[in-house]
Amino acid sequence: MNSSRLGMILILSGPSGSGKSTIAKQVMARYPELGFSVSCTTRQPRDGEKEGESYYFVSREKFAEDVAADRFIEHATVHGNSYGTLKSEVTERVLNGTDVVLDIDVQGASSIRDLCRKDSLFRKCTEFVFITPPSPEILEHRLRSRGTETEESILRRTANAREEMTHIPEYDYLIINDELEKAVEDFESLYRAFRLSTRRLKGESFS
Ligand code: 5GP
Repeated sequence: MNSSRLGMILILSGPSGSGKSTIAKQVMARYPELGFSVSCTTRQPRDGEKEGESYYFVSREKFAEDVAADRFIEHATVHGNSYGTLKSEVTERVLNGTDVVLDIDVQGASSIRDLCRKDSLFRKCTEFVFITPPSPEILEHRLRSRGTETEESILRRTANAREEMTHIPEYDYLIINDELEKAVEDFESLYRAFRLSTRRLKGESFS
């Protein structure tokens, strides 16, 4: 934790199967000061996913209750399920100098872009990165070999990916995950550069 600066909010978007979670995990493992914002979702857990680590898996009723209680920074419907970023996962940590990765879709990123216009904390702290597979065809192949999705889900996710990729120009940085090792290196390089930003220095740091 570095209290002489605010933490950063690292928005990471990209189609399912772009490798963004794997890339983020590898870089987070190298930097203890880089944490993950665990989202709420109404979708069912996949094999190996842990409650409170991958997501907070909640009922539709609980999700609606969290929306009504204004507990989310943003929330959206993705692939038919609700997903939301909890204020409690982000705000306090950023104020304390911890960096936080938000793995969210293009709608969530767009809501946070709106928030940056209104809220100076978000404006200072947020960086927008898109991770993409080299092509929708390669993505389809990756989703099939992952073996976790039904045929219907593969087709829906590939179609969604084509749409999501049209949002690339809205992001400041693009990583093409052609080779995982190189993509991890690119993400780490971005993170290290973001850490040098003067925007998040607290007022008294150099006075
Ligand atoms: P998956 O179900 O494959 O884990 O995630 C599906 C999509 O939902 C991914 O694009 C992921 O980035 C997005 N997502 C995960 N958490 C959130 C969230 O809190 N808010 C938004 N807007 N999208 C999310």
